[in-house]
Amino acid sequence: MSNRRDFLKQSALLGAATLSPAAGLWGKSANPAANPKKVNTYTVNMKIVQATPPPARQITVPDVEGFKVLKGDFHIHTLFSDGHVMPKDRVWEAVNNGLDVISITDHIEHRPFIGKNGQWKLAETQADDFNIWYDAARSEAERKELLLIRGAEITKRTMPPGHFNVLFATDNNPIVAVTDDWKKMLQVAADQGAFLLWNHPGWEAPQSGGIEKGAPLSFTDAHEEICRKGLMHGIEIFNDHEYYPVVSDWCNERNLAIFANSDIHNSELATYGIQNPLRPITLVIAKERTLESVKEALFAKRTVGWAADMLWGRDPWLPALFKSSVDIKAVTQGTLELTNKSSLPVSVTLGGAAVNLPQNTKRQVYRAEGIKTLTVLNWMIAMNKPLEIPLTV
Ligand SMILES: [Zn+2]
Ligand SMILES: [Zn+2]
Repeated sequence: MSNRRDFLKQSALLGAATLSPAAGLWGKSANPAANPKKVNTYTVNMKIVQATPPPARQITVPDVEGFKVLKGDFHIHTLFSDGHVMPKDRVWEAVNNGLDVISITDHIEHRPFIGKNGQWKLAETQADDFNIWYDAARSEAERKELLLIRGAEITKRTMPPGHFNVLFATDNNPIVAVTDDWKKMLQVAADQGAFLLWNHPGWEAPQSGGIEKGAPLSFTDAHEEICRKGLMHGIEIFNDHEYYPVVSDWCNERNLAIFANSDIHNSELATYGIQNPLRPITLVIAKERTLESVKEALFAKRTVGWAADMLWGRDPWLPALFKSSVDIKAVTQGTLELTNKSSLPVSVTLGGAAVNLPQNTKRQVYRAEGIKTLTVLNWMIAMNKPLEIPLTV
């Protein structure tokens, strides 16, 4: 390089070389010699230089006493009721979000886009088919190896009964056939072996199946009867952005499964951003990663809700999940070392300040004099009652 001018010229050429796409991406002329200016007769695939989407979110939860821990969302809407995306989109979202199992639970009684007055013109046979959202997502779920449960939401305008999700029905249409009588709907679903979930029990929306604004959240006589007849198997402790602490006690007292569900209506991207871990998840402690195993686990009440950096579960599965997720080691008399081997958020105290253990981290925790249990501040085993782990070290 002889002088500054040459240097600048060289640098410019170098810069251009880095910026230009690889030679393979240039358009090709059918006969460049005959007409060098006529290019782009072939389609050029630019996929390799476009931003590739991030890989699917990995949620790590170690096995619990020989069971697998599956990640699920059991309350999801699509355009077939009042949601804003197609059933197949829900499959892609769930896979990208690291879920193993979902149920699309479109409203039976509220379908603003479908039917005679709706915005869509489906063939009459399709408009009357309440399995359509399940059927529309099924092949894609199989292709993506996502477990898909047939679902629907019974959507009554009064509380009781409010809203109930029907999971694992064999055919939603006979349930719809008795829609004038919610008791019959629950019974027909149960006769099909369905799992029945009381949704958002504290949702304040008197016109749409919720409780009156300001009314205490209560287990009504009607809900007591539903439960007694075996027509309620679980309750949502978390729905969308709402948390109902008393549901912990209700589930413990009546042997019901705890759920944290999204009740998502808009697209996942619009609701949470890309792969946002704030999406509510219900962990299912299942023998296998199969639909039969999920059904067995739900009826056995082996679930843990996870949302907003909190977890809710029942004895013995919540402590068992903690045991498999967090290793405890004594460093000195007054210090323990905790290792969080999972993606679950953990916040603990040993009588001192709270210590957060985000996923896959190791931290030393100061142990106050005489402390014999580890308190897991964000894992709830009953209403407002954090999980206590007796220390053996
Ligand atoms: Zn609802
Ligand atoms: Zn819903």
